[in-house]
Amino acid sequence: MKASAGGYARANDLREALDLLANADGQGRVLAGGQSLIAAMNMRLSTGDMLVDISRIAELAGVAEDGETLRIGALTRHAAVGADPLVKTHVPLLAEATGHIAHAAIRNRGTIGGALSHADPAAEFPACALALGASMEIAGPDGSRTVAAEDFFEDVFTTALAEGEILTALTVPKQRPGEAQLIEEVARRSGDYALVGLCLVKRDAGHRVALFSVGATPILARACMARLDAGDLDGAVTALQGEIDPPSDTQASAAYRRHLAGVLLRRAMARLTGVPA
Ligand SMILES: Cc1cc2nc3c(=O)[nH]c(=O)nc-3n(C[C@H](O)[C@H](O)[C@H](O)COP(=O)(O)OP(=O)(O)OC[C@H]3O[C@@H](n4cnc5c(N)ncnc54)[C@H](O)[C@@H]3O)c2cc1C
Repeated sequence: MKASAGGYARANDLREALDLLANADGQGRVLAGGQSLIAAMNMRLSTGDMLVDISRIAELAGVAEDGETLRIGALTRHAAVGADPLVKTHVPLLAEATGHIAHAAIRNRGTIGGALSHADPAAEFPACALALGASMEIAGPDGSRTVAAEDFFEDVFTTALAEGEILTALTVPKQRPGEAQLIEEVARRSGDYALVGLCLVKRDAGHRVALFSVGATPILARACMARLDAGDLDGAVTALQGEIDPPSDTQASAAYRRHLAGVLLRRAMARLTGVPA
């Protein structure tokens, strides 16, 4: 089946993109890497949109240091995120997560802003953003605003982005000395979406644990985090399994996903501490 679009326009800069969306009578749809949107259009899950192609807006791509944070432009492709020296040094979680996303062809086209905006509950980058305490920079017809990752993911494929807005960048705190960041996931085959995934960040302030593919949105496992801070791994596993409500589907049952979440937490803590799970 072929895609059905209501129109197409390529924006040369952010202002033009916002104007195109504002003039699209509510039918405007941002096109970035196209790795999720075009697939949805081909399956006719999305039809009639006025596509506003932002993929050539240079100002939206690239990674830059800004004091204690890294600013990652929304159009930075997955492969570029994974290979970027600043990302590897200051936010190794994102670099490691990239290796779990799909296959090379998709990583060469898909953008971090697209992954965050698409908000697939099984995607890696949204959970990384939660675990890292990152912020989303958003541009809209009335100016710019910043939304914390914790307030950004609202439901399946649903974010705090409003009609006519564009995600312009992700801002992430740089890793501090002594901090550790890692990701663990289980997928049926390399490159598949995860059955369950877990991001762990250990800071002076405590542990942060974000799960993906366990519900409508990625979640911060707060009860689990509190038990880890108390040095109680068994309690953290029990708390984690109690605070997620994973779905049963053709890939895995809820009970199996809950079991996997505990396994992943033990694996992550074993990597962190050097003590075998
Ligand atoms: C076979 C396959 C396997 C995949 N496996 C994985 C996987 O394991 N893990 C994973 O995380 N992802 C996976 N993906 C998805 C891939 O990472 C996509 O690239 C990503 O989800 C979307 O990025 P994109 O730039 O292609 O966005 P697009 O497809 O262009 O857009 C996706 C959605 O986000 C909106 N959007 C895009 N950019 C912006 C922006 N800057 N501001 C506002 N809205 C925006 C679009 O309007 C659209 O609704 C897979 C995709 C395929 C086809």
